[in-house]
Amino acid sequence: MNDLFNSFMTGPDDKGRFGKFGGRFVSETLMPLILELEEQYEHAKTDPEFWAEMDYLWKHYVGRPSPLYYAERLTEELGGAKVYFKRDELNHTGAHKINNVLGQIILARRMGKTRIIAETGAGQHGVATATVCAKFGLKCVVYMGAHDVERQKPNVFRMRLLGAEVVPVTSGRGTLKDAMNDALRDWVTNVQETFYCIGTVAGPHPYPAMVRDFQAIIGKETREQIMEAEGRLPDTLIAAIGGGSNAMGLFYPFLDDKDVGIIGVEAGGKGVNEKMEHCASLTGGRPGVLHGNRTYLLQDEDGQILEGHSISAGLDYPGIGPEHSWLHETGRAQYVSITDKEALGAFELSCRTEGIIPALEPCHALAHVAKIAPELPKDHLIVMNMCGRGDKDIFTVARHLGVNIAGEEGRDLG
Ligand SMILES: *Cc1c(COP(=O)(O)O)cnc(C)c1O
Repeated sequence: MNDLFNSFMTGPDDKGRFGKFGGRFVSETLMPLILELEEQYEHAKTDPEFWAEMDYLWKHYVGRPSPLYYAERLTEELGGAKVYFKRDELNHTGAHKINNVLGQIILARRMGKTRIIAETGAGQHGVATATVCAKFGLKCVVYMGAHDVERQKPNVFRMRLLGAEVVPVTSGRGTLKDAMNDALRDWVTNVQETFYCIGTVAGPHPYPAMVRDFQAIIGKETREQIMEAEGRLPDTLIAAIGGGSNAMGLFYPFLDDKDVGIIGVEAGGKGVNEKMEHCASLTGGRPGVLHGNRTYLLQDEDGQILEGHSISAGLDYPGIGPEHSWLHETGRAQYVSITDKEALGAFELSCRTEGIIPALEPCHALAHVAKIAPELPKDHLIVMNMCGRGDKDIFTVARHLGVNIAGEEGRDLG
């Protein structure tokens, strides 16, 4: 690590490592592709034309900057710290994922690639990728666990409407982890024209750093917006963590601001227990290697990857981005977990006090806000990333509330 003691923003090192995490654990056949990608990204990253194209599309296609919103009634109800929402749920396609997809696909176009592949779990990253591919007229193939194809029919339908081919993955247990493995295999066999667009800060180097850099627009805007609103930086940042991309995007531009506290919120499912009915890789897992990098993982005693459980399909990746593992071990960021039940409580709170129907993922972050805000002074500033909207989750929530809104879609999501 270049300058660990002076800065948290210099990582990864040239081997792609954040301390002892990250790296590039891939087969020899994959190595040349990864190296080409790294070289091209390093070049694009310092090219003002690349960022000019990003800025244009962020503004006119995605709808950035997203507002930084003072959640006044929520703040009053909690009775302590002043709470702001970073409104990334207002982006085109309803979440932060498109920030990163846009970056990778503009890079793919610069590299002359014509075929984009992606993995998806709940389908959100698949939909974002299919969207941007349609916009640019690129072929799009999305790998999705067969089990998830069954559970997430509305998103499968959306991807197909957008012109993508959805490939159900039956290897392994037919979930996100297996979809990612199949996408990596596809990449090796279709080298020339294919670009692999990963949906979170995971995978072999340079993906974790590249995805973070694209999502860092969230934190960059937040810095400017909070300076304008309050004339100073926030005291605490809070974000939900699946693989960790929306959180890394908010946190990264603040890593060297020592007085800004950073909290990542993992999915605690039914509780971080022995039965692993949760997705809290940092709070309930241990280090291992998955998808080309070393990081904290949910695994059994023999190192078999476990699937975990969360009410929120977008949080059930069995690992976490390697940079989070490093921030956890260095103590720069704190990681906590929130249960399904607590997240549902936060869902109701946001609807009722702010008129915002949130995705179940950021409800985990909000539930932690609701836990700590009442004990904090009124001049304590919290910024929480509202990283997705909840339209996709109303059937899940209805089921948990015992309400029957069943049309076709309700049953599909069941
Ligand atoms: C995919 C998704 C997540 C989880 O992914 P991260 O990489 O951890 O950000 C969280 N929230 C929403 C709304 C999502 O769509």
